[in-house]
Amino acid sequence: MERNKAAILARARGAFLGVAVGDALGATTEFMTPAEIRSKFGVHRRIIGGGWLHLKPGRVTDDTEMSLCLARAILKNGRWDLKAAADEFLAWMRGKPVDIGSTVRRGIRDYLLKGQLETPPNAWDAGNGAVMRMLPVALFTLGDDELFRELVVAQAHLTHNHPLSDAACVTVGRMVQAALLGADRFALHAMARELVARHPAFRFNDYSGRASGYVVETMQTVLHFLFTTGSFEECLIGVVNQGSDADTTGAIAGMIAGALYGEDAIPAAWLKRLDPVVNREVTVAAAALVRQAPYFKQPGRGERNEH
Ligand code: MN
Ligand code: MN
Repeated sequence: MERNKAAILARARGAFLGVAVGDALGATTEFMTPAEIRSKFGVHRRIIGGGWLHLKPGRVTDDTEMSLCLARAILKNGRWDLKAAADEFLAWMRGKPVDIGSTVRRGIRDYLLKGQLETPPNAWDAGNGAVMRMLPVALFTLGDDELFRELVVAQAHLTHNHPLSDAACVTVGRMVQAALLGADRFALHAMARELVARHPAFRFNDYSGRASGYVVETMQTVLHFLFTTGSFEECLIGVVNQGSDADTTGAIAGMIAGALYGEDAIPAAWLKRLDPVVNREVTVAAAALVRQAPYFKQPGRGERNEH
């Protein structure tokens, strides 16, 4: 296999494993304050489960599970189908997930009861629930920015319809795609600054320490630690020790840092603790999604060297 393609696949696996590892690591400190985390753990740095959901070590939550729903919807037919995505979300909700956000639940119920595939704009929809699950769309559309934008917003609007959520989805996905193709931290920082230029609410260089499910605070936490640390491990530890929506900040930070640093940068102890069924499915899905992306369907692409 060409070197470039192998490198992209490894970063794609890093991104999806990053979602799952960040989710499993952060679930322990979800809804805790940094002070509570300090007094209980010193620094929280191991996948030990527990938390308010009383999870088994390595168990993931809605962040990873909804990402897998989108991956399955795409891989089942080898194409994007919004209704297939909604059906996967519905099947997941019927399976009584360990956790489900209120905005997500409302969106899936509106699909069930009215067949609604786009929730109307709502000032209260600026949660992080559409961002945390968007990785499969970013992998599957690599190489076609217009298609990416269309699909990432469509998946978001199944449950969340808010300009700040949309903007965060687009930026996170573009950062992941750039990292897959070899962009460094400085290039990603420029993309984050573009987001702030368009939506100043996302300013992250005077980080407040708040890490809630409000997409602005989620993104500020992720971006702050992404750009003030130098490894996957350091970034994730920083994020989850802020507590609050720690599993989701962990999942999003893991997604970007996994694409940036690659699967080999994920601590072996974390991968070993991750639910093996999830580990296998995200690893296989990441590669399958990216192999079907426009980037690899264009003749000559993927055979090029990156540099
Ligand atoms: Mn969660
Ligand atoms: Mn969460």
